[in-house]
Amino acid sequence: MRPIFAKSWTSFSPLARGVGRGRWQVSRLSSTISPVAAPSTKSRLSSARVLVVGAVFFGVGATLWAGEAFYLAAEEAKGEPSYVPVNKATPGVPGADPAYPKTMTINGEELPVATCFGSDMADINKPRLVILGSGWGATSILKHTQDLDANGYYTVVLSPTNYFLFTPLLPEATTGTTECRSLIESIRKICFRSRAHYCEAAAQDVHFDLKMVEVIGVDGRHFLVPYDKLVIGVGAMNNTFGVPGVRENARFLKDIQDARYLRHKLMTNFETAALPTTSEEERKRLLSFVIAGGGPTGVEYAAELYDFLHEDLMKYFPDLTSSDVSVTIVQSADHILNTFSEAISLYAEERFKKHNINVVTNARVTKVDPGVLTYRNKNAKAGEVDTFEIPFGICLWSTGIGLRDFTKRLVDKIDMQKNKRAIEVDSRLRMKGVEGVYALGDCATIENPNMMEIVKQSFVETGKDSLDYDTFQSVIASIVDRFPQTAMHLEKLQNLFEKYDLDKNRRLDMTEIAVLVDETNKKLTSLPATAQVARQQGEYMAKKLNKLAWTPSAEGSMAVENTLKPFNYKHLGSFSYVGGDSAVIDLGGGRTGGGFGAFLLWRGAYLAKQVSLRTRVLLALDWTKRMFGRYDCSSPRS
Ligand SMILES: Cc1cc2nc3c(=O)[nH]c(=O)nc-3n(C[C@H](O)[C@H](O)[C@H](O)COP(=O)(O)OP(=O)(O)OC[C@H]3O[C@@H](n4cnc5c(N)ncnc54)[C@H](O)[C@@H]3O)c2cc1C
Repeated sequence: MRPIFAKSWTSFSPLARGVGRGRWQVSRLSSTISPVAAPSTKSRLSSARVLVVGAVFFGVGATLWAGEAFYLAAEEAKGEPSYVPVNKATPGVPGADPAYPKTMTINGEELPVATCFGSDMADINKPRLVILGSGWGATSILKHTQDLDANGYYTVVLSPTNYFLFTPLLPEATTGTTECRSLIESIRKICFRSRAHYCEAAAQDVHFDLKMVEVIGVDGRHFLVPYDKLVIGVGAMNNTFGVPGVRENARFLKDIQDARYLRHKLMTNFETAALPTTSEEERKRLLSFVIAGGGPTGVEYAAELYDFLHEDLMKYFPDLTSSDVSVTIVQSADHILNTFSEAISLYAEERFKKHNINVVTNARVTKVDPGVLTYRNKNAKAGEVDTFEIPFGICLWSTGIGLRDFTKRLVDKIDMQKNKRAIEVDSRLRMKGVEGVYALGDCATIENPNMMEIVKQSFVETGKDSLDYDTFQSVIASIVDRFPQTAMHLEKLQNLFEKYDLDKNRRLDMTEIAVLVDETNKKLTSLPATAQVARQQGEYMAKKLNKLAWTPSAEGSMAVENTLKPFNYKHLGSFSYVGGDSAVIDLGGGRTGGGFGAFLLWRGAYLAKQVSLRTRVLLALDWTKRMFGRYDCSSPRS
């Protein structure tokens, strides 16, 4: 075992300061991204840049603000919701709706059945829509179904977190670029606008046969909530991949508490390092920040640390030198940001090199002990595997996601659920194996299409043993219609036909089509676990639920559903902040960019995606504060 503490300790040299005034550049296919160094400047932003940034933020913000104000005024003009309180029942009184029993015995335990949330019961007899979660997927449904109740549902939202969290900006909250409050919005407020009922409770199980969700309330008591339609949007949890010591000694960045903890810990470590009683070795350990995982979250945390350390911190801690501080990313793949195009990965790596952020690739973390992370790295020259240790003051674990216990419980009890890493849904987001249940976002995955079935059917229908071009065209159209995710692989029909017509007889037989299907299947990948996917799925679900409202029977509902289009994901681009007012953007199809322009676009897009005017304004204020001011180095205990 070789300690690398002394050898490969990276430091922030003063040279790194002022680097990072990149140039915005979108390129196609073969072009690359090149940063352009700008003159070093002592002030954080030149006045010209302040004006540009300010104008962009406020331009976008003002437009959106006006839009939302107009919308809210229109909503208000519609008047109060036409609720007629029939019964002043105590909230959550079991059996308030006579259609349901007051209690039910589950696994030998008698549990109350909660049918009424709130005092009004005007909608109590409508079909019950239960939404699990208050994250991206769930709030997107609520946002796009502002009139769900009016359309015919009694909507109940169950989640242990009574707020929606804008996760993409969570890394900014770890250093105080944005305040935690600016990233969260009350779920009750969102529910109020959608006439939904919120209950702070976590789902424990779903009794599919009874159509009941078993939940545990914020007070720890169990009860049942009946549903006619259930949407599961409970997200995922961090995956440790079985590496020992991760849960005990590293920290995740998943919720607002994590961001608060990391911000507080950062300051505590600096204060402890600055004590006259702290040894040099301990000081270096305290100021060593290790990030396991080089995806967007890890990269953005490193970038935020870089900004924080270089802009203010060293100035306010004159007893510490930049060589005391180090940031290291340990990544298992060849490159960081490996879900982005290669040009972006190289750009980010180059930038981090300039910023003295240590990037270790092809490395597998084997354990995390208190204050020490151990990883194995293949020595490319010698072909041997070496083991290294990095002492740390903070270790962030951001290597990927896994199933929540609740989701696992559901998947395990349904035979048709073959994918054990997420709830398998069809292309209309229906959970496989049960009726009336949908899943979206990080907890769900769309099944791989069975294209061969459609092909075989067309052979049966035509009664021939091979397809001509016209029939082939209609078979492919039918596949794309049912499985939109195949579209990008099956769009150039003429080319496909010629490529797979191996015997060149202008017809495709079963063997030739089987090769095509096999190769297309290999290219199909699951949708990424991103807010963008969850948000679009929520919007799709909302439209669908609106159409299904008031459909009289389960059979009728299924018939209507089958006529609706399947979910079709549209990739709008991926961003990642890389520090020094620079971001990278990957729009797909080889269109990439990086630099200050991407940074402006990144912030503008996130401002536009806020769920409320309140968070939009708070965020704009936080960013303005950061443009003119400095980081807040105080960190009172909460
Ligand atoms: C730090 C960070 C940065 C990210 N950056 C980006 C980015 O830049 N771009 C991007 O597209 N994506 C990003 N993501 C990913 C994105 O946040 C997720 O893909 C998205 O949140 C998934 O949405 P969801 O609705 O499936 O789950 P979530 O948003 O995670 O919401 C799950 C909800 O379910 C609730 N819940 C949990 N258990 C239960 C239960 N038992 N019963 C009821 N409710 C429950 C939770 O409290 C939560 O409200 C980031 C994620 C993180 C953590």
